[in-house]
Amino acid sequence: MSKGLLIVLSGPSGVGKGTVCTALRSRVPELVYSVSATTRSPRLGEVNGVNYFFKSREQFMDMIENDQLLEYAEYVGNYYGTPRDFVEETLATGRDIILEIEVQGALKVKEKFPDGIFVFLMPPSLDELKDRIQGRGTESQATIDHRMSVAVDEINLLQHYDYAVVNDEINLACERIQSIIIAEHCKVRK
Ligand code: 5GP
Repeated sequence: MSKGLLIVLSGPSGVGKGTVCTALRSRVPELVYSVSATTRSPRLGEVNGVNYFFKSREQFMDMIENDQLLEYAEYVGNYYGTPRDFVEETLATGRDIILEIEVQGALKVKEKFPDGIFVFLMPPSLDELKDRIQGRGTESQATIDHRMSVAVDEINLLQHYDYAVVNDEINLACERIQSIIIAEHCKVRK
């Protein structure tokens, strides 16, 4: 049996990774989703074990120490990480798995899984990204400016990825990613 594909969906903050990933999963139900661990508090409607494994800082540190995370990163004051065993077990059974993670974590995954498929979700333009970051509402101008400069730095990491997918329209972005997955399954691996 061939191993499954490890697909990493990443991209700058505010680009819509979560929305695209959710839409993609409903289109491709056989695609396994890697549920991350995080120290941030659950948002309204989020369920432990479904959206995230919600952990205390202490529990998260234990996971790091026991080498239970494939990668982890600190993002806006909280920790996020990918549980290792679930990813490895899924791949071993020949199923494809998708990780929706921020860019620093994605680069760490690449060191461990160079054969993974790294997809960078792009904003249609920087103006659009600014609108989306502002569109979240409550943030101050200083926070928005900071997020924009972080996003520009993040876009510069595109060079480390295999594919760039523009998120101009959710359905189109999903179609592009589905095409990538199909092509990767057809690829002749030497
Ligand atoms: P949120 O708090 O909005 O759910 O997620 C914040 C950011 O953390 C998003 O960019 C999301 O992609 C990223 N993220 C979620 N899970 C992980 C993970 O396991 N590892 C890393 N490195 N980033 C993650």
